[in-house]
Amino acid sequence: MSTDFYREGEPAQDTKAPAGPISERWEQRRFSGRLVNPANRRKLRVIVVGTGLAGASAAATLGELGYRVANYCFQDSSRRAHSIAAQGGINAAKNYRNDGDSVHRLFYDTVKGGDFRSRESNVHRLAEVSTEIIDQCVAQGVPFAREYGGLLDNRSFGGAQVSRTFYARGQTGQQLLLGAYQALQRQVAAGTVDLHTRHEMLELIIADGKARGIVVRDLVTGEISTEIADAVVLATGGYGNVYFLSTNAMGCNVTAGWRAHRKGAYFANPCYTQIHPTCIPQSGEHQSKLTLMSESLRNDGRVWVPKQRGDDRHPADIPEDERDYYLERRYPAFGNLVPRDIASRAAKVVCDDGHGVGPGGLGVYLDFAGAVERLGRKAVEAKYGNLFDMYERITGENPYERPMRIYPAVHYTMGGLWVDYDLSSNIPGLFVTGEANFSDHGANRLGASALMQGLSDGYFVLPNTISDYLADGPFEALDEGHEAVVAARKEVDDRIDFFLNNDGDRTVDSFHRELGKIMWEYCGMERTDEGLRKAIGLIRGLKDEFWRRVKVTGKAEELNQQLEKAGRVADFFELGELMCIDALHRTESCGGHFRAESQTEDGEAKRDDANFSYVAAWEFGEDGPVLHKEALEFEYVKPTQRSYK
Ligand SMILES: Cc1cc2nc3c(=O)[nH]c(=O)nc-3n(C[C@H](O)[C@H](O)[C@H](O)COP(=O)(O)OP(=O)(O)OC[C@H]3O[C@@H](n4cnc5c(N)ncnc54)[C@H](O)[C@@H]3O)c2cc1C
Repeated sequence: MSTDFYREGEPAQDTKAPAGPISERWEQRRFSGRLVNPANRRKLRVIVVGTGLAGASAAATLGELGYRVANYCFQDSSRRAHSIAAQGGINAAKNYRNDGDSVHRLFYDTVKGGDFRSRESNVHRLAEVSTEIIDQCVAQGVPFAREYGGLLDNRSFGGAQVSRTFYARGQTGQQLLLGAYQALQRQVAAGTVDLHTRHEMLELIIADGKARGIVVRDLVTGEISTEIADAVVLATGGYGNVYFLSTNAMGCNVTAGWRAHRKGAYFANPCYTQIHPTCIPQSGEHQSKLTLMSESLRNDGRVWVPKQRGDDRHPADIPEDERDYYLERRYPAFGNLVPRDIASRAAKVVCDDGHGVGPGGLGVYLDFAGAVERLGRKAVEAKYGNLFDMYERITGENPYERPMRIYPAVHYTMGGLWVDYDLSSNIPGLFVTGEANFSDHGANRLGASALMQGLSDGYFVLPNTISDYLADGPFEALDEGHEAVVAARKEVDDRIDFFLNNDGDRTVDSFHRELGKIMWEYCGMERTDEGLRKAIGLIRGLKDEFWRRVKVTGKAEELNQQLEKAGRVADFFELGELMCIDALHRTESCGGHFRAESQTEDGEAKRDDANFSYVAAWEFGEDGPVLHKEALEFEYVKPTQRSYK
């Protein structure tokens, strides 16, 4: 194990998850946690940063409970949060299909899918709550797809042999977010939630060891202000954009989480990145965004490459016996529906071996010819029409007539701020929900589980657990003159001054692009000891250059997107370095973290449970990160070599 880049501190521990039978733990925790009576809730203020599914659901529910909520997002409308992009669906253990599903099976699939690197207690709670989410959303009027008889329809996603994914065509995130948005707007109208769009949190305020507020910049006027509360919730999404190219919305960034990390919040498992197998391949250097083709397409699409290397015939001219349906061949039990980490690596293997299709050989086919023949074009259109249209608009190719070309791309980050069972970070009063925390997906997230987790956290978990903390409030009033507030504001002002006055000559984007290439090359689909060491050196060099040469034009008191990006990219540099250190120290392969040195004979990820069955919770240290290990225990799903064969 390499310790030249970090030192090890005391173990981390989740002190909130109760012991006892797993199916009773959530019930028990809800009972043991203290409550706040309705009259007292009105005296308590909570800041929620984020209006995606995790943030909007939390803000709306806390508002409904009667707390005073301040809700922030950087978009011009809260319903433009990145969650709106989610396409495929949301899992729930309803067992409407009567195909053998249950809470226990969803729990089992998720622990196994995460390659035994998540907490059993959290995952079981997620599976339990999943069924309530669907009821809640249906009550809000979310138009889930229905079968002819009127029951909600389901489809399958990777890593499961049952159909438990609820969906609204290829726009599930949008419809769920509209539901959450309506609930939020009801509270805005009722006066319990103050909604601040186009405001970016740039610093966390900690006073007397507690998270007490945030410093924000009005992105239109540039005005800096502070918001003080009794607790702060970060629901600020994932950090996949550290790679520059990803399927995330362009604005997604790590700043809120990273500022909290610099103030003491542990960052857990930062190297666990999900590379999604079905994205439209990059078409050139000009590109700044990649597009996902939902995993739901693998329900009906078949993945293949030509058996012959470099075969550039039109796909329709390649006969069946000259095609390699490599997922069906290698994983007959799950076929095209193996989990994402496995499908992505398998695509990389065939492309590295010269069988890839399209420009640069970086693509495999996702073919719907069989589905169109079996179901008819109309049925395929009804299920996936908007995705097919999107594909055609971007590539100019008609996927009803010619197989889609797809390639893996960065999509989701399983790592995030460390939280305990109550979703509290190690800083009292700082809670973290949705993709911004690390909690439920281990080393690989199963498809349709992010929406489930965000809504579980926001509608059901946080509103129950935060009361145990708020029961000690309201806390001492803080004013603008408090030293913690003054210091946090000064940090923000100093950084803005620096960027605008630095006499540099390189754009922020050029640095971000270069950082992204380093991350993709050395901390992407495959990682090695040598490559990660090299990446750390390259990132450090580039970061020094960034601070010397970055050029930000414009002024502070106006809409200034260069300035916004500069702060975000500065934080990405520090995060990128920590991701590489985390990936370097974890000399095993697990889920999306594939160390070339640790693979089975047939090229699958090889875990090292004896040495790495823990959550790596990193503390920010001025002279390098400090590792706190939280041991993982498996009482109900015994760790085995994951097999989808
Ligand atoms: C193309 C695509 C398709 C997907 N499809 C699916 C799917 O079908 N099923 C599934 O389960 N998952 C899917 N996912 C994953 C899922 O969409 C996300 O993980 C999830 O929506 C994240 O929700 P969130 O609320 O945690 O964060 P987000 O939706 O990213 O919201 C973050 C919020 O935080 C705010 N914010 C961030 N930083 C700051 C700051 N500093 N100051 C102020 N505000 C801030 C933003 O303004 C935003 O409101 C998909 C992801 C992508 C990219």
